[in-house]
Amino acid sequence: MNSQYVVAKFGGTSVADYTAMHRCAQIINDDPKVRVVVVSASAGVTNHLVELVQQKADEAQRELLVDAVMQIQQRILDSVSLDADLQCGFNETYTEFKEIALLPALNKQQCDEVLSFGERFSSFIFTQVLRNLGVSSVRLDIRDVLKTDSNFSKATPDITATEVAALEHLQPLLEDHVVVTQGFIGSDKYGQTTTLGRGGSDYSAALIAEAINAKSVHIWTDVVGIFSTDPRLCSKAKPIARLSFDEAAEMATFGAKVLHPATILPASRKGISVFVGSSKAPEQGGTWIEKETQSQSGIRAVTQRKNQILLTLKSPEMLLASGFLAKIFTILSSYNISVDLVTTSEISVALTLDNAPNASRPELEQGCLDELGEFCHVSVENNLTLVAMIGSEIQLRGGDDCLVDVLSEFDIRLICHGASRHNLCFLVEQSSSDAVVQAIHQKLLEVA
Ligand code: ADP
Ligand code: ASP
Ligand code: MG
Repeated sequence: MNSQYVVAKFGGTSVADYTAMHRCAQIINDDPKVRVVVVSASAGVTNHLVELVQQKADEAQRELLVDAVMQIQQRILDSVSLDADLQCGFNETYTEFKEIALLPALNKQQCDEVLSFGERFSSFIFTQVLRNLGVSSVRLDIRDVLKTDSNFSKATPDITATEVAALEHLQPLLEDHVVVTQGFIGSDKYGQTTTLGRGGSDYSAALIAEAINAKSVHIWTDVVGIFSTDPRLCSKAKPIARLSFDEAAEMATFGAKVLHPATILPASRKGISVFVGSSKAPEQGGTWIEKETQSQSGIRAVTQRKNQILLTLKSPEMLLASGFLAKIFTILSSYNISVDLVTTSEISVALTLDNAPNASRPELEQGCLDELGEFCHVSVENNLTLVAMIGSEIQLRGGDDCLVDVLSEFDIRLICHGASRHNLCFLVEQSSSDAVVQAIHQKLLEVA
C-alpha cells in the first residue's frame, strides 16, 4: 500500500544560490506531506566536476576547477551558517574532495567519486536552510540506501537491495524528520560510489519514492511543467496539464531534458504520480503524470535530441543469414551502449546512439568499433538530431493533420514509426533541427 509521503526533488537551478534554496525550503514548509527531499548539485558544479574527470586539465587547471566548485558553495554559505553536525560533515567532505580531485589520474570508480561531490555539498547546505525555517531536518547519505551495480558513470539500480536498505536507513527517520538527501549518486555492493548518468537526480527521486511506497514525486525545476516543446526554443510552447506514464516516458527518452529518461519507470511500476513544476512559481501549478490519464489521440509534443550518432553496419553475409543482429547487439551491450532507433535492410542495419557533449564518458568507444569492424563494414555519422513527435495513436495518414505532408518538407535521414504508436521519430542534420522542431510545433501544435 502506498503511504501518503511525497518525495520532492530540486534541480540545479533550484539550489543554485541562497535565494533559490530559500524558495525551495518554503515549498517544503508549506507541504507537510513532503518527507524526503532530493537535491541536485548547485547549477554549474557538475559541469566543473565533469571537466575534472575528463582528465584533460593540468595541475593548475585542476586547482582552478576545485576553486570554482568551492566558490559556488561558499557564495551560498555566506548567507547560511551550518550547525556543528553539518559543518563537521561539510569540512570532511571538502577534504576528501580536494584529495581526490587533484590526483593526476583517476580510474572509473574515482571518476564517479569526484562526480558525487556536487550533490554531497548542496545537501549539507540545504538541510541547514530548512532548519533555519524551523523544519526538523536531517541529512542522509543516499549511498547507504540507493544500491546499484558497479557500472560507473551509468550505474543500474538494484531495486530490491534499495528497498531493503531504505527500510533500515530511511524509513525510521521519516516519522519525525524531513530527510534531505542527494540525487544522482548511489553505491555498489562494495560500498563504492556510483552515479546514474547526467540529469540522474530525477531518477533518484523516483527510485526513492518507489522504495518507500510514496504517494507522489514532485520534480521542482525552472519551468512550470512539461511543455509541448522546449519553451526555450518555441515561445508559443504550452504547458501540458496531464500526461500518461507512456507519453511522459517517451518525451523524456526523446529529449525533453526536463525529466531524466528513466524517471517514469519506478513511478509506473508502483503507480506513483509525478508532478513537474517551477520552484520559482509553485502557485502556477504544473504537469501531472499519472497512470489513469485518459489520453487524447494525436500529437501532443515534439522533442529533439542533438548530438546523435548514426552507425551503419553493412555485410553481404547478412543476406538470408541468421544471427547477424544478435552478434551486433551482443557487442554493443558488452560496451553498455544503449541504442535508440534501429532500421534494417537486407544487408545493413542502421542504429542511432546518443553522444551527449557533457556526458561523463563517451558513448561509442574505439574498442567497440574495432570489434564490429571484424565482421562488417562500419560507418559513423555525427552531427545529427533525433526529432520525435509524441502522443497517442499517431498515424502517418488520417486524422486532421496529414503528417506525410508536413514531413515531406524536411530532409529526413532516417525515420522510425510503428514500434510504438506513441511516437514517430526521424533524424535530420543538426544544423536544421531547431527550425524543423519550430515548424512542426507551428503546424501541428499551435492550431487553436
Ligand atoms: P533541473 O536542473 O531542474 O533538473 P533541467 O535543466 O534538467 O532542470 O531541465 C529543465 C529544462 O528542460 C528547462 O529549462 C527546459 O529548457 C528544458 N526542456 C526541454 N524540453 C522541455 C519540455 N518539453 N518541457 C519543459 N522543459 C523542457
Ligand atoms: N548534478 C547532476 C547533473 O548535473 C545530476 C542532476 O542534476 O540531475 O547531471
Ligand atoms: Mg535535470
